[in-house]
Parts: sequence; structure tokens; C-alpha cells
Amino acid sequence: MIQSDVDLQPFNTMTIAARAKYFCAATSHDEMREALAFARKQQLPILPLGGGSNIVLTGDFPGLALHIGLLGHEFEPLDDGVRLRASAGENWHQLVMHSVALGYGGLENLALIPGNIGAAPIQNIGAYGVELKDTFEQLTAMEIATGNLVTFTAEACQFGYRDSLFKGDAKDRFLICEVVLKLPARWQPQVSYPALQQYFAEHQQGEQDLTPEQVAGAVIAIRNSKLPNPVEIPNAGSFFKNPVVGASQYAELKQKHPDLVAFAAGNDWKLAAGWLIDQAGWRGFARDGVGVHDRQALVLVNPGHRCGSQVVDLAQDIARDIQQKFGVVLEPEPRFYP
Ligand code: FAD
Ligand code: NAP
Repeated sequence: MIQSDVDLQPFNTMTIAARAKYFCAATSHDEMREALAFARKQQLPILPLGGGSNIVLTGDFPGLALHIGLLGHEFEPLDDGVRLRASAGENWHQLVMHSVALGYGGLENLALIPGNIGAAPIQNIGAYGVELKDTFEQLTAMEIATGNLVTFTAEACQFGYRDSLFKGDAKDRFLICEVVLKLPARWQPQVSYPALQQYFAEHQQGEQDLTPEQVAGAVIAIRNSKLPNPVEIPNAGSFFKNPVVGASQYAELKQKHPDLVAFAAGNDWKLAAGWLIDQAGWRGFARDGVGVHDRQALVLVNPGHRCGSQVVDLAQDIARDIQQKFGVVLEPEPRFYP
């Protein structure tokens, strides 16, 4: 069951060729526990793997890469909506499309996000103004130290903007096994993002007549028009988080750059990192097999299947340049391993 010296290139959408000292594809709780016991005995670090669409392998992984392939999902009708219970290895986009095909709303703005549902709570996936937390009910996770199953409510998960408990206090402590979502009976389309507004204006579709399936269709069309398909052009989605700055820094930046794209976030301001990178002239930049996507500057691409250090070098050059030009610190969104 446990293989040694395994190439992780097929397991990350950046297609970085790095090797894992050990690798295991687990499809049941028992297999996960056996793999954890093996790692514990040898004091190996664990790399939990879903679809590999939010990781950057900066070198060989000196521990156990554990692919979580638990499968199965069910929709349970309730008086006030429907409950979706899905095992961690289920593909996220397929779940979204299954939900909307059944007429259930709530997930449509999150269509075409790569990866599996088990990773979705890690960064509280979000797109077009909707986040996982909006429909999240609870999850079950296996504690790495003990193999015990623990349930986390939405509150316990401490969801934030591309953030959760599993990036904070519970980092590297749990393997998510099952996620439970509750989709509302009364659904309202969330189409406030300019790209969606423009899409429905062009297609002459009024907001009041929309179905979840139509919104998913719009999201898919918009994403396909500007984001690289990782199967064709290796990438890990947005490479940096949108930085959040205080009101005075925002006012200063806005004065210097009247076209600055920013959105109020409580008392602070969320800056569109893609706009900053684009303004600094990086969009379409290419260097020895790695580069910046030509339609969305927030996405670093790896068409040359280069190693993680080349990707990280480019990311550091961009972040340094943005700090010099705008005084803004960019933080990577994907997790780097080891
Ligand atoms: P992986 O990359 O396999 O893992 C991500 C992290 O979670 C790693 O730290 C991993 O160890 C951990 N992990 C994975 N599974 C488990 C588990 N079962 N238990 C514990 N830890 C686990 N993200 C968004 O939020 N919004 C977007 O719109 C979006 N668009 C994207 C578009 C593209 C083209 C790409 C390539 C990425 C995009 N992403 C987006 C990022 C990514 O798809 C999401 O973060 C997704 O949830 C990652 O899922 P995954 O299964 O591929 O996770
Ligand atoms: P976009 O629509 O061109 O918007 C650019 C940025 O402005 C986005 O980052 C978005 O922030 C912000 N924004 C736009 N309208 C907003 C509004 N009405 N209120 C608040 N913020 C607003 O972005 P895009 O690159 O094409 O991506 C579309 C959506 O997919 C975004 O939500 C983005 O986060 C998501 N996406 C995420 C990834 C990833 O890997 N994380 C990759 C691709 C796309 P937010 O990012 O906070 O939404």
C-alpha cells in the first residue's frame, strides 16, 4: 500500500517534478490510519493531497504524501433546504454541477474551482462573492496524531478570507474526511461581481429569472475566457492573496493611482493583487519555462514543467517589485512543501 520514492508530478497542477520519500493513496479510514501509523513510527511529516491545485513543491518531500481518496456523496432533503454530505476525495466541480443539475442553489458561483471537497475548507474556497462558509454546516476530520475522528462546526472552523483554523492553530494536525453543506430552500442569485453583471447584461438575462444552473454556466464561461485550464497550462490558480490594507494606506495609494482596483473590507480595503501585478508590467512575462498568465496577472504558469524553485524565484521577484512600486506586501496563496 505504501510506495517509496514516488514522482509527485501527476499529483500537482503546477506539474512540478518532485519526489515523495513515501506515497500512499488511501480510500478508507482504515487505510488512512495504517498510513498514519507507518508515518508515526518513522516520525515522517505528512503531505495530505487532494487534487494538488493549491500546492507548490519546492523540492522533494522527505515524508509521506497521503492522497485522500475517500469517495461518496448524498443529498438529503430537509424542510428548509437540502443537506449535501460528501467524502473528502469527491471532485468539487462535479459536486457543484450535480447540485445545480438537481436545481439546488448555493454553490454555483464556486463552479470550476479545481480540486476536491476535502481541501475546500482549508482556505474556505471563494469566488464571485461566495465562499464555502456560506453553505458550510460541519466537517469530520481524522487527527493525525491519534487516528481519531473529530467533528468541527462552522464556528469551530474559524473561516476567514481564504483562511480557516486548518491554516492556523490546527495546521498539519487533521485530515479532512467528510464535509457537510446545507443548501438553502430559498435561493437568491449572487451576481454582484462586474464580470457576472456584464455577462447577464450581454445575454439579456434578468436577475429574477436566473436558475443556479444558469449562474454556474456564466461562471464557467467567464472563468474559461480568462483563467488557464491547468490541464493545458500548468498553474495553481491565484498565486497571491489579495492584500488587505488600512484606510490611510488605501487613500495614499488611491491618490497616486486613481485607477487602483480595491474593495471595502470592513474598515480596511482589499486590493486586487492582479491589478497591482498587471500595472507593474508583469502580465504575460515569461522566463525560462515559467511565467505570468497573459489574461490574469495573478496566475503564475509553469508551461515548461520547471522545478518549484524557479516558480518561487519568479514569485519573489514579483512580490519584491510590488513592494517597491506600491509599498504593498504580497503573500502567496498556495501552500509550499516541504
Ligand atoms: P490540494 O492542492 O491537494 O491541497 C491544498 C492544501 O490542502 C494542502 O495544504 C493540502 O495538504 C491540504 N489538503 C488537501 N486535502 C486535504 C484533506 N482532505 N485534509 C487535510 N488537508 C488537506 N481557490 C479558491 O478559493 N477560489 C478559486 O476560485 C480558485 N480557482 C482556482 C483556479 C485554478 C485554475 C486553480 C489551479 C486553482 C484555483 N483555486 C481556487 C485554488 C484551489 O483549487 C483550491 O484551493 C482547492 O480547494 C484546492 O483543492 P485540492 O484538492 O487541489 O487541494
Ligand atoms: P475579477 O472578477 O477580475 O476581480 C478582480 C478582483 O477584484 C478579485 O480578486 C475580487 O476579489 C475583486 N472583486 C471584484 N469584484 C468584487 C466585488 N464586487 N466585491 C468584492 N471584491 C471584488 O477576478 P478573477 O481573477 O476573474 O476571479 C474571479 C473570481 O474567482 C474571484 O472571486 C477570485 O477570487 C476567484 N478565483 C480565485 C482563484 C484562486 O486560486 N484563489 C483563481 C481564480 C479565480 P476576490 O478574489 O476576493 O473575489
